[in-house]
Amino acid sequence: MSTLREMIKDKKRIVVKIGSSSLQHAETGDLDYIRLEKLVRELCDIRNQGKEVILVSSGAVAAGRKAVQMQNLHPVTREEQIAVKQACAAIGQARLMMVYQKIFSEYNHVAAQILMTKDTIVDNMNRYNAHNTFAELLYMGAIPIVNENDTVATYEIEIGDNDTLSAIVAALVEADLLILLSDIDGLYTDDPRKNPNARFIEQVDELTDEYMHMGKGSTGSSVGTGGMNTKMIAAKIATSCGADMVIANSKDIGVLHEILSGEKVGTIFKANKDEDFDLAEFVKNLHK
Ligand code: GLU
Repeated sequence: MSTLREMIKDKKRIVVKIGSSSLQHAETGDLDYIRLEKLVRELCDIRNQGKEVILVSSGAVAAGRKAVQMQNLHPVTREEQIAVKQACAAIGQARLMMVYQKIFSEYNHVAAQILMTKDTIVDNMNRYNAHNTFAELLYMGAIPIVNENDTVATYEIEIGDNDTLSAIVAALVEADLLILLSDIDGLYTDDPRKNPNARFIEQVDELTDEYMHMGKGSTGSSVGTGGMNTKMIAAKIATSCGADMVIANSKDIGVLHEILSGEKVGTIFKANKDEDFDLAEFVKNLHK
């Protein structure tokens, strides 16, 4: 019988999520073009193998803040903070897509942008249309690049982090694999940055409460939104909808082809399709 890792070689529809901290230089906050280039090359190569691939990319707010030098200014009121974040997202998302378009086209691939909010999933008509748009783009051979529509998504309609968003996308398009590229190697029994005795977990066959709890204490990096907690929520959504999920470290983007050739890197979560899982209902109740 093939192991879970070997079966990864046969995956056909793959969602890859990359976080803000993996796309920029920690020292300056500027985009890391070498890493972006490698990411795009890996994704194009997956596409060239005849597989379908979707990228969920963070980094819009961070790129926008950098573009208008807003990192060190602290707006006073909450409304001002929201306005600055949304304005920065508008600037940064366009910049990010410009870079992606440029590099994807160098490898003769077509990139497409999809920006989502909670309503894209909760509203039946929106969800139906979004599903069809993804299907059509994949059929055309394009590579959809997804982010939250941070410029319009205020608290009431925001998903809030791209770990959750990427799992929602995986569920929506019925992907068979979700890969979360992060600044951590995978799931540990506790936060390894705080507890030296934390043990690494290679494989999760069933997402019990004990595992769900392991993510609770972590807050993630200073630029992104997700920590291990949001990754466990992503695992819940993805595995319940029939996709395996892998968390791996993005310090070497080559980890993508290692994962897809069945190597034991990162933590793998086994799909456990739950026929009663209602994606729209789950998303509607996020943050409540
Ligand atoms: N959507 C946010 C951005 O592009 C990132 C959210 C996250 O880090 O999870 O800046």
